[in-house]
Amino acid sequence: MLSSPVTGGLASLTRPNGEVVIRIEGITKEYVMGESLIRALRGVDLLIHRNEYLAVMGPSGSGKSTLMNMLGCLDTPTSGRYEFNGKDVASMEDDELAEIRNREIGFVFQTFNLLPRSTSLQNVELPLIYAGISSQERRRRAEEALTEVGLGDRMDHKPNELSGGQRQRVAIARALVNRPSIILADEPTGNLDSQTGEEIMTLLETLYEGGNTIIVVTHEEEVANHARRVVRLRDGVVESDQLRLRLPATPDTPQ
Ligand code: ADP
Ligand code: MG
Repeated sequence: MLSSPVTGGLASLTRPNGEVVIRIEGITKEYVMGESLIRALRGVDLLIHRNEYLAVMGPSGSGKSTLMNMLGCLDTPTSGRYEFNGKDVASMEDDELAEIRNREIGFVFQTFNLLPRSTSLQNVELPLIYAGISSQERRRRAEEALTEVGLGDRMDHKPNELSGGQRQRVAIARALVNRPSIILADEPTGNLDSQTGEEIMTLLETLYEGGNTIIVVTHEEEVANHARRVVRLRDGVVESDQLRLRLPATPDTPQ
């Protein structure tokens, strides 16, 4: 008989043996705007294991980007606890935080955020410059990452010489070039037509199959359909946290 690890919570059901990479407890984020206080996050708990594929959904203004900025160590919470790989993020020194942002996490944004005057290669090499990698090695790794996302023939193009989908691929190659274990993507298909968006999601799927942890923010159900787990935010709190059951590819495969 199969035992199901129900006591481990939802996340452990997706990857029973995966180690916890992200643990947040009671995270809040408040912004003071003149006279008013905006409570963007009002107590969020989340446990994320290595090699999960998680979609964060919710209406505009529900706190998705704020949460992503916390997860990516781009911003600090007003209160609550954030542990990354078992270590309290609040206790980390700046260089340790920079190391996590640079080496452990790859960011993908809705608006691509590429340098407009730089080629695909130069854009992808950028994180390696920060990491102090030699120029020859930078070139090699950037070429490898661009080839991996299917842009081996667009290395010397600038963003305005690429389609939207290709630009997002360059951004994904840039996110991958330091071989991070976690990819954080905030509405990565938001500026793409649905077919191109689907291609980008297929690419993220491949990264997931290759062992990456994927956290993708979206408000589109089709995009979230790729994920194995869906966390819904509303007004700065987690409204639901559900596994998405996937049927096996062939009906008679006993899985
Ligand atoms: P989402 O990504 O789900 O659309 P956000 O996380 O961007 O939502 O925003 C959540 C709430 O926090 C919104 O009400 C937004 O206006 C507010 N907010 C986000 N960033 C800031 C900021 N830097 N200063 C003030 N308010 C902010
Ligand atoms: Mg947002």
